[in-house]
Amino acid sequence: MAREPCLVCDEETATGSPLYASRTVVARDAARGYVCVDCRAKASPERRGELSRDELARLNESAAVFGTWWSGGTSGVGLG
Ligand SMILES: [Zn+2]
Repeated sequence: MAREPCLVCDEETATGSPLYASRTVVARDAARGYVCVDCRAKASPERRGELSRDELARLNESAAVFGTWWSGGTSGVGLG
């Protein structure tokens, strides 16, 4: 099984995992990333405080690659 960890919490979201059906796929150029439904919700500015320090760091790292994917409506972000 391919490893497709959540960008924020590092939980596996690949096909066959419990998080697969509700994950969000973010893509930019050749890069693809995956975010579980919980982290997708917590990434919103209103709930950002619920993320751990490490998760917040990974959220910011993902923004460097994919842009602010949690804001929605940007091209290249879609439900997978
Ligand atoms: Zn997650």
